[in-house]
Amino acid sequence: MISMSRNKISVVVPCFDEQAVIGETHRCLIEVLNGQKDFAWEIIYVDDGSSDNTWSILSSLAKSHNEVSAIKLSRNFGHQMASMAGLESATGDAVVLIDADLQDPPSLIPEFYQKWVDGNEVVYGKRKKRNGESLFKRLTASLFYRLLNRVSEVEIPLDTGDFRLMDRKVVDHIVAMPERARFLRGMVAWVGFRQCAVEYDRDERYAGVSKYPLRKMLKFAADGILSFSALPLKLATFTGLVTFGLSLVGFVYAIWLRLLTDNWVSGWTALFVTVLFFGGLQLLTLGLIGEYLARIYTESKRRPLYIIDEVCVSSSCDGDSDNKVK
Ligand code: UDP
Ligand code: MG
Repeated sequence: MISMSRNKISVVVPCFDEQAVIGETHRCLIEVLNGQKDFAWEIIYVDDGSSDNTWSILSSLAKSHNEVSAIKLSRNFGHQMASMAGLESATGDAVVLIDADLQDPPSLIPEFYQKWVDGNEVVYGKRKKRNGESLFKRLTASLFYRLLNRVSEVEIPLDTGDFRLMDRKVVDHIVAMPERARFLRGMVAWVGFRQCAVEYDRDERYAGVSKYPLRKMLKFAADGILSFSALPLKLATFTGLVTFGLSLVGFVYAIWLRLLTDNWVSGWTALFVTVLFFGGLQLLTLGLIGEYLARIYTESKRRPLYIIDEVCVSSSCDGDSDNKVK
């Protein structure tokens, strides 16, 4: 890992409608990176189908800095896919993933680097405090990560996002994984190697609004749980077994009422409640199976993760790159 020549660090920044912050983010990144004598670096911005001026800002940054490149996806593929696009084109010995909104402080990059030089293949930022985020977001995030850890087969570090440094080995393994559903922080945990945390206080967004509305958050959470655990399916089997056992008891009870007692006409309430209960349970179980089936369907189509529209590196912007589909 530590070679005689200077190491190169790639910084990957996924951006979706970030015109309000991207200039400031770039300024902060350059300030931190220019101060580093130990390593060479590059910045890769990925425009995830923004509809504002993000792309024109990014492409002009790429044209005016040799170390900066910008990739434009053909539409909004989502945070995880945009990150993948950046990871796949990163050339560094290690890659740092960072959000565009300055919620992840660029000033932590030198610390990440140091931990990497010390022999850790993954250095992730662990959020101590989350400033300026709603109680709802903090509460659901905290619940989600704890639930995920309970049910998943790998231990995914608590309260971490995608802000992290990954060694070339780790990046190559992630890029080589064939699955379409990409829950990066889980996949990085799954890969293994030596991983360590650096704690930080998560700041407020520098400007603009969150690009994770509730709908995207729910999809993200479902991807995390369903691609890292089969427990929900097993849960369906388990509740099925329990209710089957209960219904056997009910069956015996009903027969007993019918044959040995006189009051077998009554019991409508019990019947009604049971029908509702089992109806609901069956729908729930079917829904769960459907969730997994839908994911198998998506995987089996083997579509590309994303499509690149345009790439800008230093002096040129190329809309007809041969290597467009990844
Ligand atoms: N992002 C993206 N595509 C999306 C949504 C978000 O590339 O569809 C980027 C966004 O520009 C930012 C990062 O992902 O750099 C995290 O998004 P955001 O800050 O909006 O999420 P939050 O911090 O509110 O969870
Ligand atoms: Mg943010």
